[in-house]
Amino acid sequence: MSVIPLNYIEPVFRPPSEAGSLILQVTNGCSWNKCTFCEMYTAPQKKFKPKQEDEVLSEIKAVASSQPSVRRVFLADGDAMVLSYRRLHQILVWLNEYFPNLQRVSSYCLPRNIRNKTVAELAELKSLGLDILYVGAESGDDLVLEKVQKGETQASTVDALVKIKQAGLRSSVMILNGLGGRRYSEQHAVNSANMVNLAQPDYLATLVVSFPLGEQRLRSGFDDFDMLNQKELFREERLFLEHTDLSKTIFRSDHASNYLVLKGVLGRDKVAMLNKLDLAIDNPEMVPLRQEWQRGL
Ligand code: SF4
Repeated sequence: MSVIPLNYIEPVFRPPSEAGSLILQVTNGCSWNKCTFCEMYTAPQKKFKPKQEDEVLSEIKAVASSQPSVRRVFLADGDAMVLSYRRLHQILVWLNEYFPNLQRVSSYCLPRNIRNKTVAELAELKSLGLDILYVGAESGDDLVLEKVQKGETQASTVDALVKIKQAGLRSSVMILNGLGGRRYSEQHAVNSANMVNLAQPDYLATLVVSFPLGEQRLRSGFDDFDMLNQKELFREERLFLEHTDLSKTIFRSDHASNYLVLKGVLGRDKVAMLNKLDLAIDNPEMVPLRQEWQRGL
């Protein structure tokens, strides 16, 4: 998609599964931007701002003139779902008008983005192609969420995920392995499992918390944070998976930050994944693990 004339404000992020999608930047940055573990939108040029509607339309037209066959669109940046129902509706109408083969539209989404939209409005957006929302829940533990300034709770996240499901949209939930540090590892794992059990998301992924720019920002509100070592990360992941009670959720821990790749459907493949984790904990030399240099942080 690099040849397409889009006026990106860099850096631009997208989930790994949106590699083949047109990334349409309808907002710049993240409207919250306070999570202390997140460095995605901390550069000065990433200060949050919705893109002007006429600019969004011109970009859609520009792409359509050279590549009208676009099928998938990811609305960037960090929480495009913060836009009002009216704006999102308009963008989806344009996407349908200019890309006749459009199959699905997706976006990152904060639980708070869903609060001011009704189930009927979300269902209408679904009818226009909005299909999957990537929700960075990070943790289901309220204390950990408070310490990292997520601005959400387990209850607010579950409410949003349930509403997403009621509207017929799919959700992909991300949990950050290690976010509670050593002290809160157990409650982070168990309460995160409780949260996903209540929400039954379509997709679930765990990533390992990492700080390419250092831990200072996180420590501002979390002075007792201690990064877990590899074995402790596996133990926490195991505890989390052990407590999940999911009926049909596609699970992945294949993001570049993970040492151990796990893939399967929960609950069907839960025992197999727990066995793999046990092996990684007790006999790491018998399991293919990513080396530090192979992890994309
Ligand atoms: S809501 Fe998401 S994008 Fe925004 S600061 Fe938090 S983790 Fe980063």
